[in-house]
Amino acid sequence: MKLTDLNPHGGIGANCLLVELGPFRFLIDAGIHPKKVGRDTLPDFDKLAPNSIDALILTHCHLDHLGSLPVALRHQPEAMIILSRPTQELAVRMLRNSCNVMRRQREEQHIPEYPLYSYSELDRLEPMMFALPYGHARTFAKGNEEVQVTLYASGHIVGAAGVKLTYKHRSIFFTGDVLFTDQKTLPGASFPDETFDTLVMETTRGLTARTADKAREDEVARLLQTVGRTLENGGSVLIPAFALGRMQEILAILEEAVSKGDIPKVPVVCSGLGLDLVDYFDNISRKFNAVHFRRTILKKLGVQSLKRFPDPGKSPSRPTLFVVSSGMLVEKTPSYAVASSLLGNPHNAVCFVGYCDPDTPGGQLLETPRDESFVFDALDYVTPVRASIERFDLSGHADREELLEFAHHCEPRAIVLTHGDPEARAWFKEELEQSDQGYSVTDPVPGTCYTV
Ligand SMILES: [Zn+2]
Ligand SMILES: [Zn+2]
Repeated sequence: MKLTDLNPHGGIGANCLLVELGPFRFLIDAGIHPKKVGRDTLPDFDKLAPNSIDALILTHCHLDHLGSLPVALRHQPEAMIILSRPTQELAVRMLRNSCNVMRRQREEQHIPEYPLYSYSELDRLEPMMFALPYGHARTFAKGNEEVQVTLYASGHIVGAAGVKLTYKHRSIFFTGDVLFTDQKTLPGASFPDETFDTLVMETTRGLTARTADKAREDEVARLLQTVGRTLENGGSVLIPAFALGRMQEILAILEEAVSKGDIPKVPVVCSGLGLDLVDYFDNISRKFNAVHFRRTILKKLGVQSLKRFPDPGKSPSRPTLFVVSSGMLVEKTPSYAVASSLLGNPHNAVCFVGYCDPDTPGGQLLETPRDESFVFDALDYVTPVRASIERFDLSGHADREELLEFAHHCEPRAIVLTHGDPEARAWFKEELEQSDQGYSVTDPVPGTCYTV
């Protein structure tokens, strides 16, 4: 197999791997880099000759995997898009939202190359999609040659898939973004109990050691304690949550807690895309049983949509629970505005339930000591941090120890590291090379073709 990482900046960014197996050429994912702007967000598609790709295999609908798919396929009219059935339900909706955001950024931030694709290009994607049920091998032929593609549920978010390619009795497995632990709305990964010749694995949590006292259920219990205590004391709570997956997971957790009487029933406020995706989750739950989520959760919780952004410094008049995006308090998003209204009041709490990049307002808030000033640049507003700020480890990615265990279990000859910061990849490389299993471990340099 030949493999080229087309993510030009390394780390976690515009995920896109070019995989060549005999006459077959696949792309695994086509993402956009969350911290770059304009064409700099894209994978290096210049490396692809027009009409040279047989299929793009999409592992899931996070934008670092999906966001540049229309651009990737612009000059690949023969390519099919192989994806899971839930991912097929969500992909165009997520791309449409991303296109809307880019159109807004074109105006507000004067980025002339936005949007990177048009709505009409999105309309052309649907007929190219070929959805595979999990666990069913599908054979694709070219001349006399055959390759088999099989998708396996990878936990993480609804529709997420690991990918097995089998060519001439050699097998290659891509973990994609993976979570082995069950979530409330989604079972953990269900990967095949097999050995592979080559394993391509994500390394997101390579710098985070597993801590025995932070089992997922304990973190959920701790979150509910903080939420319950804050609301009972008359405060309001903000849970910044990514719209796809995390918001619905948190709503399901809250609904169960309210129904058991573990936390008081107060108004719950959610925002735009996340609320919209509830219908998609309901649909996916009914059609494929691929996620445990029903629209009725909104009714049971009494969820309202955020009608207007609250004013800085003005807490709601009665205890309110906000579950709004973005998860990292990105400027001009609902969570950023709600944080500006809650931070100055010691009765309130902000509960982070996902990863926050240190460069985002969320990451900066987590580093700000209590009573020190926090600046909301985009609102021209400064407030001392009086609310309690807490972080809960409910990651959507597997622990590094679990991934190492999985790698050993697969007994691969070669291991390729992807989807991790340089230090995280370095940790995996060292651990794997020191394990005396004789793996050949590659941390690919972007744009370089490797034979593995
Ligand atoms: Zn992801
Ligand atoms: Zn990712």
